Amino acid sequence: MNTLITGQLVSEKESLFPNLENLFCDINIQEYENAVHRAKESVISFLEETNQPFSGVSPRELRKQFENIDLNDPAISYDEVFDEVTRLYIKHAVAFHHPKYTAHLNCPVVIPAVAAEMLISSINSSLDTWDQSAGGTLMEQKLIDWTCGEIGFGSSSDGIFTSGGSQSNLMGMLLARDHYALEHFNHNIKKDGLPEQAHRFRIFVSDAAHFSIQKSASILGLGEQAVVKIKTDRSFRMNSVLLEDAVRKEIENGNIPIAVAATAGTTDFGNVDPLTNIAGIAKQYKLWFHVDAAYGCALLLTEKYRHLIQGIEQAHSVTVDYHKSFFQPVSSSGFILNDRKYFGLITHYADYLNPKDHDENEIPNQVNKSIQTTRRFDALKLWFTLRIIGKKGLGTYIDRIIHTADEAATLLENDPNFELLNRSDLSALVFRYSADPFKTFDLSRINTYIKSQLYKSGNGLVAGTKVNGQFYLKFTILNPLTTIEDIKSILNTIKQYGNEYIEVN
Ligand SMILES: *Cc1c(COP(=O)(O)O)cnc(C)c1O
Repeated sequence: MNTLITGQLVSEKESLFPNLENLFCDINIQEYENAVHRAKESVISFLEETNQPFSGVSPRELRKQFENIDLNDPAISYDEVFDEVTRLYIKHAVAFHHPKYTAHLNCPVVIPAVAAEMLISSINSSLDTWDQSAGGTLMEQKLIDWTCGEIGFGSSSDGIFTSGGSQSNLMGMLLARDHYALEHFNHNIKKDGLPEQAHRFRIFVSDAAHFSIQKSASILGLGEQAVVKIKTDRSFRMNSVLLEDAVRKEIENGNIPIAVAATAGTTDFGNVDPLTNIAGIAKQYKLWFHVDAAYGCALLLTEKYRHLIQGIEQAHSVTVDYHKSFFQPVSSSGFILNDRKYFGLITHYADYLNPKDHDENEIPNQVNKSIQTTRRFDALKLWFTLRIIGKKGLGTYIDRIIHTADEAATLLENDPNFELLNRSDLSALVFRYSADPFKTFDLSRINTYIKSQLYKSGNGLVAGTKVNGQFYLKFTILNPLTTIEDIKSILNTIKQYGNEYIEVN
């Protein structure tokens, strides 16, 4: 196509650059419209044709379909590529928007955020510097300021959008480490690397905290050994008395407590650690107080349950995950600091990008606060969401989710077929099928079987987790459309598989 069309030479430009029609630019608006239209059609088919959360396909079945695909084959048409992607992906995609998807911390997304995604990837601003984003930087900053306000931080607070809760937790631990070394040993880790005392640094979390804190400690050169796990109480919250004991014991042993990372909404149980008590202990022992509210930031949206996250405003740093609890498409997260001066610990001035004199001229370069350089304009999704739905609107979603989880907890408590481990501040319930009349079966086995059968059938998804070495099932309810009837239906299926296991074995 690129040299001769019906005997005529096409423009010189096009023969130099075949496939020029694929570039996003003003001469290809028609092509853009066509491609985007097809993508939209295929999303609509996904919505129309999805009648359960998952197809049940196995990795082996799906892998077979990949065997004859050669990515170096000549170009195929949009028709062909959409067929291929439907077969390989869309048909088997796990449908987070389905009311019977109650497995992991994946929310259904809101439409304003999806519309924003179109702008984000097409215009493709990069939020590292003002000179690559302009208004984008100011919008992100305004959303950060809004989040600071919701947390209850004062005017010196600041923050940055990140790729996820894991990155935000890493930043929290990074600043805790560097701040401690500078403050107590006059040692600049950014410049000079780890001080000799670093292997004795200690970070305290509950035993229900997210694994990304341990990962952070290992990335930061402190090792997983730096993380001290504090036992949770019967409601799976950090026991703050044991926290203080542990801090003292580490000091007695010659170690150096630097930080405590409380969890506001644990991944498994959705419960909030006693933030105010922990803040007090952090203050007394001069520890950095980080709050991982990746999940629990949902509580910021609701008047009814806002009190459950009281104490978050005493943190040095906070992780919020808009893609967990604000109905945002992946990725969209925040790292929020009570005092912007701490960002200085990680600022690196690069002459080509964010020279120091920009600061003096008040040119806002977000890269000064980030460990990423090129960075998506994820903030625009939250902007659309707040402008169109508003905090109150999102809050009603959260109220509904918490209410459904509460109803589900009551249902589980009153059904002799099940054992429920927790009530949740949010919407995560850990339970297991336990109706073995003669107590002859290993309940971990039965529940593992149930989980895998559910996944194979695909018509209702729950997660699994281990508590004290035993396997449990878990509901994470993040969809306001999930009703107690959906929950009942999943529980009935669970009972069927449970009975089936007992009969067969
Ligand atoms: C999910 C989660 C994280 C990690 O967040 P990502 O966005 O998946 O990186 C951290 N902490 C808690 C409590 C979480 O539930």
